[in-house]
Amino acid sequence: MKHVPLSRDMNEADAFFAENPDIETVQMLVPDTNGILRGKWGPPDLARKAFGDGVPLPLSIFGLDIWGREVPETDLHIETGDLDGKCLAVPGSLKRVTWSKRPAAQLLMSMYEGDGTPWYADPRHVLEKVLARFREKGLNPVCAFELEFYLLKPDFEADAMQSPLPHIGPMAGPERQQMYSINTLSGLEDYFADINDAAAIQGLPMDTIISEAGPGQFEINLLHRADAMLAADEALLLRRMIAGIARRHGHRASFMSKPFQHWPGNGMHVHVSLEDENGNNVFADPKRGETLLRNAVGGTLASMTDALAVFVNTFNGYRRLAPGSYAPTRVAWGENNRSVAVRIPSGSGKARRLEHRISGADAHPHLVAAALLAGILHGIEEGIEPPEPIVGNAYEGDTKGAELTDYMEEAVEAFEASSFVADALGADFRHIFAEIKKAEQAVFDERISRLEHETYL
Ligand code: GLU
Ligand code: MG
Repeated sequence: MKHVPLSRDMNEADAFFAENPDIETVQMLVPDTNGILRGKWGPPDLARKAFGDGVPLPLSIFGLDIWGREVPETDLHIETGDLDGKCLAVPGSLKRVTWSKRPAAQLLMSMYEGDGTPWYADPRHVLEKVLARFREKGLNPVCAFELEFYLLKPDFEADAMQSPLPHIGPMAGPERQQMYSINTLSGLEDYFADINDAAAIQGLPMDTIISEAGPGQFEINLLHRADAMLAADEALLLRRMIAGIARRHGHRASFMSKPFQHWPGNGMHVHVSLEDENGNNVFADPKRGETLLRNAVGGTLASMTDALAVFVNTFNGYRRLAPGSYAPTRVAWGENNRSVAVRIPSGSGKARRLEHRISGADAHPHLVAAALLAGILHGIEEGIEPPEPIVGNAYEGDTKGAELTDYMEEAVEAFEASSFVADALGADFRHIFAEIKKAEQAVFDERISRLEHETYL
């Protein structure tokens, strides 16, 4: 099937550059399979091109590993002649970059083949296919992302196991947690003010900022959007903004899932409800709402192990799923319970929804949304009943749902063998994602660790 790309509005570029005549550089961004931004920098005319015929870039950027190296097993590289595709602008995403030294803008782009077919390996198109299935059912997912991160000193040497905890903020210290601390936020007033200003300029719907449980750990929430693609785009761009402004303040922001053995990891929580064609939340429907919500939870749990490699997409991320950490360790759900993978927030009324708590903050928001929403759809289509909800501490006892694996390797094996994943994300996408993860795993397996030297040398 041939898809015709969305018609692009050249007026957006013209209007933007008329209002921002000082812009010297446009940072053209394409998120790869890991969610790492790739692309080019160029003059305003390059951005205009992205709104027109497209900007050429190799289709193979979706076959790179986390270190940006080609993974030959994806079959996307030299054997194809390393074909160029064309990147087209994501409408509405041309915005000023407030944290660059010189006047700059950024533009998000999506990859298409030369004839205009959406490139199957681009996670934005993977999500689009799932959203099309919802549209056929007259349903529209509403999503909100929450992101956790650590602020570190820029000269921090990564030796997470041994080093004293790097932290910033006058009231933070390694000996104390600062959950919800207002003083910690006040100590970083200028930093967060710059984030608020940038979000306003870029149109990111920022909600709350909190000080999280780890010293120097924070969380920023985006408001929900009745456009899951936009919500995922914004999560990705929020990450870039948090990191870029941190650099300007002489800090370093990290979304790494589990940077410190003894402190909580960084999660990416996703809240989801479903709207009908009239914009009503079907989970709040007095007749069928609770059944639909139970089925949505049922499908999410039934597909969780298969899709785990997407939710936790790094070798390090599996360390985050630790008992007592408020990151989940089991395939389980509960009402108003933060120890489970799928939580139904209390008292949500019209905002009745589920919260998916598995993903690491460094996961790819579009792939997380695609796998999660496909799980929800699967549950609704098959009428899947979830197991009993967990009341109390899900980390205790062993009858509270299957355990999530501690190893990326096992998650990737399940992913690669999964027919759910092939249906949800595409068998061709499943192939490239699995090959990239296997290539990364091999590097971790081969590297002789510092602990081995400390122990055996
Ligand atoms: N930091 C926890 C995680 O890794 C989540 C804490 C919370 O906000 O409940 O998912
Ligand atoms: Mg949190």
